[in-house]
Amino acid sequence: MNIKDKFLIKNDGDKKSIIRAIDNLKLSGTSDIVKEYETKLATFFESKYAIAVSSGTAAIHSALFALNVKNGDEVIVPPTAPIMSASPILLQSAKPIFVDTNKNNFGFDTNSLKRNITNKTKAIICVPMWGYPFDYKELIEVCKDFQVPLIEDAAQAHNSTYNNKKVGTLGDIGCFSTHDRKILATGEGGFILTDNYEVYEQIKSFTQYANMKGETFGMNYKISTLQAAIGISRIDKIKWQVEVRRKNAKRILNGLLDPNVYEIEYPKNSSPNYYGLVFQMSYPVEKIKKIINKLMDFGIPSDILRYNYKVMYHYMLFKQWKRICPNAEYLSKTITTVPVHPNIRENELDHIISSLNNISEVT
Ligand SMILES: *Cc1c(COP(=O)(O)O)cnc(C)c1O
Repeated sequence: MNIKDKFLIKNDGDKKSIIRAIDNLKLSGTSDIVKEYETKLATFFESKYAIAVSSGTAAIHSALFALNVKNGDEVIVPPTAPIMSASPILLQSAKPIFVDTNKNNFGFDTNSLKRNITNKTKAIICVPMWGYPFDYKELIEVCKDFQVPLIEDAAQAHNSTYNNKKVGTLGDIGCFSTHDRKILATGEGGFILTDNYEVYEQIKSFTQYANMKGETFGMNYKISTLQAAIGISRIDKIKWQVEVRRKNAKRILNGLLDPNVYEIEYPKNSSPNYYGLVFQMSYPVEKIKKIINKLMDFGIPSDILRYNYKVMYHYMLFKQWKRICPNAEYLSKTITTVPVHPNIRENELDHIISSLNNISEVT
C-alpha cells in the first residue's frame, strides 16, 4: 500500500470559474473577481476584512509591516513552526525570539512567554501546526496584559475552531496560505484577515506598492485573478473537506489499541481541521524514530520525515537565535502525522489502524 500524503482536489466548479475570469478579461490582482474572492473569504471566515495575497509568507510579511516591525525589534515565534513563519521577521531585520511551547501541544508555555516579552517585542506569532488549536484564552490574555499584538499563522488551520470562532480570527491579524497542499488550495496564494480598519488599509497599500505614490514603502504581493477564481470555486468545499477529514480521523482514533500512541492534546472547546492527524507517543525517542520509519515502509507517509521536521533554531538560518526550548524539543521528537484527506479510502484507513496497533512489536 502506498498512501498519498497530498490531497489532489478534483473540483468541477474550477473550470467554470476560471473561464468566467478569462471572459471578464481583467487578470491582474485588482480585478473585481479578486474583490469578489476577498468578500467571500471575509464572509466564510467571519472577519471584517480579507486581503488576498500571493502567498502565506507574503501574508506574514505584510502583517509584520503593518505592525511596524523594524530593525532591532523582537518578534516571538514558536520553534515548532516551519521556517516560513519566521523568515519574514528576518526580512524586516527584526529578531526572531523562540519561546518554548507546551510539552504536548503547539501553544506557548505561558510562563516562558511572559518571561520573554520585552519593550522591544512588537508582535507574537502563534502557529497551530496541522490545524490543532491550543489555549487561545490564556494567550490572548497575555497579549492584552502586555499590549503586544497577536499574529496567527493559520496557514494550516482553515476552519479549525476555538470557542466556536474560526482560528485566524482570534488575534489581531490572521495569516493563511492557499498553497496547493493547504485546505483551501489555489496553487500558490494566501490571504490576511483582520477586524481592524487601519491594519486593513496598511496591508492593502503595502501589498500593492503603496498605491504607487512613492510616499511609503510597498511590495507587490497581489494575487492573480486566475488564482482568485479557483479560490472562489473552492471556498464552498472547505466545510465538506474538513468534515471528511474529521470523520477519517475519528475512524482511526476509534481503532487505536496502544495506550502509548494517542492523539495530540487540544482544548475541549476547540476543534482541529485535521490538516494532519497528529499522534504523540510515550515511547523512547529512538524507538519513535524507528516507528515513523517503519510506518513509512508500510506506505504510511509522515510529515515529520517528509519535511525533516525539527525545531527551527536547528536550521542553519536560525542558529544564531537559538534558545533552549526543552518542551518544543520533546514535542517535535515524540509526534508523527498521518494523512486523513478525502482521497484516502476505507481500506487505507484500516491499514493505518492495524499498522499503528502492531507497530510497537515490529520495531
Ligand atoms: C504553508 C505555510 C506557510 C507558508 O505559506 P506559503 O503560501 O507556502 O508561502 C507559512 N506557515 C505555515 C505554518 C505553513 O504551513
